[in-house]
Amino acid sequence: MTAGAKTSPEQAPIHVLWINAGLSCDGDSVALTAATQPSVEEIALGALPGLPNVAVHWPLIDFECGPQGGADDFLEWFRKADRGELEPFVLVVEGSIPNEEVSGEGYWCGFGNDPATQQPITTNEWIDRLAPKALAVLAAGTCATYGGIHAMAGNPTGAMGVPDYLGWDWKSKAGLPIVCVPGCPIQPDNLAETITYLLYQASGQAPMIPLDEALRPTWLFGRTVHEGCDRAGYYEQGDFAEEYGSEKCIVKLGCWGPVVKCNVPKRGWMDGIGGCPNVGGICIGCTMPGFPDKFMPFMDEPPGGKLSTTVVGPYGAAVRSLRKITGKTLDKEPKWRHRAAELTTGYQG
Ligand code: SF4
Ligand code: SF4
Ligand code: SF4
Repeated sequence: MTAGAKTSPEQAPIHVLWINAGLSCDGDSVALTAATQPSVEEIALGALPGLPNVAVHWPLIDFECGPQGGADDFLEWFRKADRGELEPFVLVVEGSIPNEEVSGEGYWCGFGNDPATQQPITTNEWIDRLAPKALAVLAAGTCATYGGIHAMAGNPTGAMGVPDYLGWDWKSKAGLPIVCVPGCPIQPDNLAETITYLLYQASGQAPMIPLDEALRPTWLFGRTVHEGCDRAGYYEQGDFAEEYGSEKCIVKLGCWGPVVKCNVPKRGWMDGIGGCPNVGGICIGCTMPGFPDKFMPFMDEPPGGKLSTTVVGPYGAAVRSLRKITGKTLDKEPKWRHRAAELTTGYQG
């Protein structure tokens, strides 16, 4: 949609140019439609206090799809940005970046044609052209951030994430590092919130976005799945599920939550609901730079899980039985609450 852009004479809109033509399944675009904190509509229509005017050029739902050179030519926004006629803009990349150096006579992926030659323009070429002119570059989803599924061992494309392609120390002309919001797919509100942050920063209303060493927003990726998991109490008590369908901790079924940075169990998936281990799904580390290879085979107990569950087992069993005794005591009212003629509360009046 080329949405938003409440035109006001004093403020030109900040454009969001979205390229979903990396090696991608569009899952992150689809996920974003489920955001509620804030929603896409709130961002695009400027419903948030102080948010600058925004014009979003997003293939997933854009209604501009007319012929090249026509009034509805979606790609013209990207060409304008390339010619330096679109200021300012944030570039969003979805999908991993193939290595066109190894594509032979063909190409791995492209985004529209060159009007002069009618030949495809590769995604890599668009990134080469637009990244130096962008206010900020946002990599959306684990494919775009670190390579993800397409960058698995044995892949033929040499796929990589945006930081691998542009360089981990790359900075935009405004001095911003690449902003990475991983997830496969991305947690909707994590993306919506980061876009909102960048728009506030772009309009001078927020300080430099805080990022960790993997270029993730620190406030979103500073805690492990385990630290926010609804089942963490079972883990601490050494109470582990042996099969699916149990409400207990699922580390023995393959959950990597104790070492994975992700806020999904805290935040839920949509509108606060869900969150992998909370609802019985093992964490497979989909937000992590080492995903998926370092977490495979999925559904096997993680090596560290074997050790930690063995250690926590006897402690947990002892704590559980002591808590049972305490729990029984606490489950009963104090004995002075009765209707006999004698006061037994201990009152000394
Ligand atoms: Fe699809 Fe996952 Fe890649 Fe996003 S990160 S494009 S959801 S495979
Ligand atoms: Fe930790 Fe996973 Fe168990 Fe939750 S289910 S407590 S994240 S190991
Ligand atoms: Fe991915 Fe694990 Fe987070 Fe679920 S909890 S989104 S599997 S990192």
